Formats: sequence, structure tokens, C-alpha cells
Amino acid sequence: MSADLLIYTHPKLGVVIYDPAAQMGLTREQMRLFKLGTMGSSTFLRAIVSKDLTEDPSAANAEQLEVYRAARASRRKPYCEHCRRHYGSVDFSICPECNSIRCTCGTCSCASSSRRRKAA
Ligand SMILES: [Zn+2]
Ligand SMILES: [Zn+2]
Repeated sequence: MSADLLIYTHPKLGVVIYDPAAQMGLTREQMRLFKLGTMGSSTFLRAIVSKDLTEDPSAANAEQLEVYRAARASRRKPYCEHCRRHYGSVDFSICPECNSIRCTCGTCSCASSSRRRKAA
């Protein structure tokens, strides 16, 4: 399986996940963090954000962490079926409706399942 997630707390961002598998397409100066508060990821400048990160596995809400793990594990393809961008290289979020990864183009399992229904 993929490398494990690191849980941090940040005074402004709250609880964040550092996912080693979601750092594609970034320069060495950047890092992508998934914020449990908004269930979405953003790209930050490592030099600015990392000094305020405190490693704290106990800070994560276990339920949200499971949603994240499940969403990462459940995707059938490592890239968006709509825009073909790799999920490891976009600031994806997790859809509160279907609990799956939502690409920056807005595609999640809600959209693809309705497309499949129409196509059937
Ligand atoms: Zn997409
Ligand atoms: Zn959805």
C-alpha cells in the first residue's frame, strides 16, 4: 500500500493531512495539505507552512480520517475520468454527498454515476 498519512495541526489551518501520494506536480518548495476542516486540499509554500506544523496523530477526527482513507482507496482509477488529471497532482476535495474524491474540475462519484445512469 501507499506510504502512510501524517497528521499535523496548524494554528491557522487546523488539522491537516500530509499524504505522500498526493504531492505530484509540485515543486520542492511546495507541499499539498488536506484540511479536515473543509475536507479539501490546498497547495502551500513549504517554507511558510511547515514551520507551524505540529505532528499530532491524536488531533485527527477518526471519522474524517476514515472518510479520507476510504476515498483515496476507493477510486478505481488514479486520475479523473473527466479531465484526466492525476488525483495526486490536483488540490482535490472530498464530496460530502458521495464521500469520494472530487476533482478540481468538479467531478466526483455523484457526477459519474448520474452519467452512467443516463448512458444506460
Ligand atoms: Zn477532473
Ligand atoms: Zn459526489
